[in-house]
Amino acid sequence: MTSDLSAEDLLRAALALVATRPVGAWPEELDSLDRLEELVPGTAPRARHGAATDLAEVRGLRDRLAPLVLDPDPGSAPAALSALAREFDLAPVVDSVGGPVRHVSPDPRTVARVAEALVPGVMSAWASGLMPRVRTCGADDCDTPFLDRSSRANRHYCSDRCSTRVRVRRHRTRSSPA
Ligand SMILES: [Zn+2]
Repeated sequence: MTSDLSAEDLLRAALALVATRPVGAWPEELDSLDRLEELVPGTAPRARHGAATDLAEVRGLRDRLAPLVLDPDPGSAPAALSALAREFDLAPVVDSVGGPVRHVSPDPRTVARVAEALVPGVMSAWASGLMPRVRTCGADDCDTPFLDRSSRANRHYCSDRCSTRVRVRRHRTRSSPA
């Protein structure tokens, strides 16, 4: 993958991928790998082993990454993330003096492209102190995780759409006769 993405970009990508998983009443949103490149840049498949297998493997990695980006348990998360790096044989590579470090896996599967991007990405996000800024949307009917980079660290909603919806609903509740 092209690894000039910052730790923040990569954490955002990890959160975008994690947000597609089914939670409670929310259905699976990763229906195909067509959106993968958009979610995690640099993950376009090198070889196709069969779309269904690729999709199942990417979902599996996503579900293992979810607890490592949403609420990493200090006791077990570091070992779990390090184990993922070993599992995909990730090795640091540089292409030029002054160029970025990227991590490559010899594994030809699409899931390894995702691991190349997101496993080192989550490691850098942890190292950069970004994790306290990971939040879950405060709207009742939304569970989307997001990275709060506002200067006052006071964002409650994943998107303008959610904050507007909550505001409109509050307004309606207040202005409707009891
Ligand atoms: Zn939301």
